Order: sequence, then C-alpha cells, then structure tokens
Amino acid sequence: MVDVQCQACTQFSKLPDSLGATYEGPWMCPNCNARHRIKTVCNYLNANSLEDRFTIGQLKCSDASDIREAVAAYNAFASRAAVVMVRRALQRACISKGAKGSKLCEQIEDLHNRLKIFDTAHVALATATRLFGNFGAHPNDDLLDDLSDEEARRALDLGIYLINKM
Ligand SMILES: [Zn+2]
Repeated sequence: MVDVQCQACTQFSKLPDSLGATYEGPWMCPNCNARHRIKTVCNYLNANSLEDRFTIGQLKCSDASDIREAVAAYNAFASRAAVVMVRRALQRACISKGAKGSKLCEQIEDLHNRLKIFDTAHVALATATRLFGNFGAHPNDDLLDDLSDEEARRALDLGIYLINKM
C-alpha cells in the first residue's frame, strides 16, 4: 500500500490496491479532488505532480459541490462556467447565513455589517469586483461576455476566500 500526499491539500491517502504495485497514470486526491500524475514502482512512490491549474486546498464549508464544480470548470478552461458556479456557491452560502438583499454584493455587505463575518478589505474588494458587485444590474447582463481567464481566477480566489470565512 502506497501513501500519497496531495500537492494541493497536503492530506495523505492510500492508493487503492486495484492500481497494483507498479502504476503510472492519473490519480485524484479523494479529499479535495485535485488531479495528479503519479508513478509507483514496486510499492514505492516514484513521482507525483499536480496537474490542475487551480486547486482548492482545504475547504471549510460543509457543501462544497458548487465550488468543486467551479474549480473543475476553470481547470477545463471554461472560465464563464467557473464564475457562474462560484457566484452560485457564494450566494447560497450567504443565504444560508441569513443574508438580506437580492444582489450578491448586498448580501455580502449585509453579512459584514450585521454579523461581522468578512473583513472590510475583502468586502470592498468583492463589491468593487464587477463579477460579484455589478452583475445582474440590467436584465440579461451577467457581465461574462468579455471575461478573461485571469479575471475568472481572481473571482475563484475571492469566492473561496469569502466562503471559507463564513
Ligand atoms: Zn487533496
């Protein structure tokens, strides 16, 4: 049995026996779903490299399915799908904390003002970010038409940070 340490969340996991003593190929961390390529020779780990562009690491929220989907989309170069899912995750988390307001930026501000959940710098950042702060201001305007890969990455970073603070 070979222990492999995840390069994203640092957790150790045992490889399934079905892989055999010598294996080379993909491996997904059962804890955080980060994808790796590994190589084992006679039950020794020979190589282990992280393949994903973005990894979540440890998540504190109980229902992480939306976040996992957002990260999977980003890793597959589907930036718009990633932002849609991270907004959904954030909005669901806000609503589960009892946030008031109909727009995401209002909900984030409400949680900050009433429950002191986020620090001021991150609230300012979130509400100034067009992807969190302004979307939906006009009907059918999701602000995703000219989304860059870098913007999607920042939205993921910020979204995951805020969710972990709740
Ligand atoms: Zn992991």
